[in-house]
Amino acid sequence: MVDFIDRGMSVATQPTLCMHCQDPVAPCAQVCPVMAILITPDGVVQQAEPSRCIGCRNCVYACPFGVPKFDIEARLMKKCNLCYDRTSQGLQPWCAQACPTQAIWYGDYEEFVNQREGRAVDVTVFGAQSVRTKNYHVVPDDEPRLDVTLLLLEAENQVAATSAAGEEAWVL
Ligand code: SF4
Ligand code: SF4
Repeated sequence: MVDFIDRGMSVATQPTLCMHCQDPVAPCAQVCPVMAILITPDGVVQQAEPSRCIGCRNCVYACPFGVPKFDIEARLMKKCNLCYDRTSQGLQPWCAQACPTQAIWYGDYEEFVNQREGRAVDVTVFGAQSVRTKNYHVVPDDEPRLDVTLLLLEAENQVAATSAAGEEAWVL
């Protein structure tokens, strides 16, 4: 799924990849009252099974990364499943395949360390809560984790400074 950051302000997009949470294990699946979201033995959190999903949207509210999207017409939750039809056959997910700058990259941790720059971290912090995920974020070398609260504070300060200088903020 792709979200637009702010159509009025920027053409930038935000691919909303499922992070395949490992600790806690898939909050989306934990709150599903009908066990519609299954997890494969290799830790890939699947889409809602259409024959089971009752459209309650619990998963939408439980996901810390804002991944599940509710399709009102279909009355079905939809989300990234790592293009499981491709990755289970040894192919890359489409987002990684299509990204011209390899900002989204597919491979294992050892391959990343050997081929790429930056520090890959699998812990994301939301205030007092942290989540360990199967997918990694790449952060500067001196950052031990991705701290979303700090990023939001930095973004707010940046916008305030830009506004004070009389310029329009490009993107939030
Ligand atoms: S919307 Fe569907 S998949 Fe999500 S929690 Fe409700 S029943 Fe489960
Ligand atoms: S990122 Fe969201 S949708 Fe993906 S496993 Fe975690 S809670 Fe579920």
